[in-house]
Amino acid sequence: MLAKTPAGAAPATGTSFLDELFDRGLLIETGVDGLYGRSGLFEAIGDGFQALVTRHGGGDNAEIVRFPPAMARDVFEKSGYMKSFPQLAGTVHCFCGSPADHLALMQTIEQKGDWTAGQQASEIVLTPAACYPLYPTAAKRGALPAEGRLFDLMSYCFRHEPSKDPARQQFFRMREYVRMGTPDQVTEFRASWLERGQALIAELGLPFAVDVANDPFFGRTGKMLAVNQRDQRLKFELLISIESEENPTACLSFNYHQDHFGKTFGLTTADGEVAHTACVGFGHERVILALLKHYGTDVARWPASVRSALGL
Ligand code: ATP
Ligand code: ZN
Repeated sequence: MLAKTPAGAAPATGTSFLDELFDRGLLIETGVDGLYGRSGLFEAIGDGFQALVTRHGGGDNAEIVRFPPAMARDVFEKSGYMKSFPQLAGTVHCFCGSPADHLALMQTIEQKGDWTAGQQASEIVLTPAACYPLYPTAAKRGALPAEGRLFDLMSYCFRHEPSKDPARQQFFRMREYVRMGTPDQVTEFRASWLERGQALIAELGLPFAVDVANDPFFGRTGKMLAVNQRDQRLKFELLISIESEENPTACLSFNYHQDHFGKTFGLTTADGEVAHTACVGFGHERVILALLKHYGTDVARWPASVRSALGL
């Protein structure tokens, strides 16, 4: 007979981290990889983390904006997301048919046929990164003031990347600070967050590394875009071991978009130049999971300093 694992002990070999999270009730299975419910404790850790981010960044008086986890399809088309990441995008389709179409739909479902074939694209797509809906909104206000603008965002985001790695979810939250302004204002913002991000994670006692990175651009041209992004050091990541020691997970990202969004959405500086933008993104679930991996899933046993930093 197998001995019972005492509470708080490391999981038996062969049990994945995801299984342990399910067993503990921290994440809740839905039958789809990467689509999970969260427990009250999981959310409490996340609330603590968000408050910590605000303690580090709140002094900058960023304008707080919250969008729902979906955005206008025309803005999404304009952003160029489908050119770079078609494999990750999620669209919202709806039934727009007649009563006769409805009858046919119900029959197809009953016969276990493909009832989705008749669904029509709506004017909504799922948000792939918290900052995407922001750029056209900011551009509508006219030229930026001389000091530029700074926003504080948080949104559930969708990416179609089903995985057994709990750190790679299909619906996850991203907190972001987004800076818009001159190249100097924007690069200064990113440089300061590269430092602050490390101080923040150090406060949680998590071992990390910072490295240049690239986005998962699609296809052959995508490879070139990825090389270019690395060469120009446009993206950095703060990495922490979650699922694997050899391949640590990006928990914070520091992105300099140059004038990409400025050009695309007609965002200009006070001097009439195309605005530059940058964002720092905090992977909400990934930081929670990094804590659970490093300190164990028995939160009562976490070091007092960590619990206090998170208000737990
Ligand atoms: P990865 O390289 O691991 O795919 P990414 O570089 O594509 O991540 P970003 O586009 O920079 O990620 O997104 C900002 C932040 O959102 C990341 O630093 C990460 O913390 C979080 N994130 C990205 N994808 C996921 C996901 N599938 N599940 C959970 N968090 C994610
Ligand atoms: Zn962003």
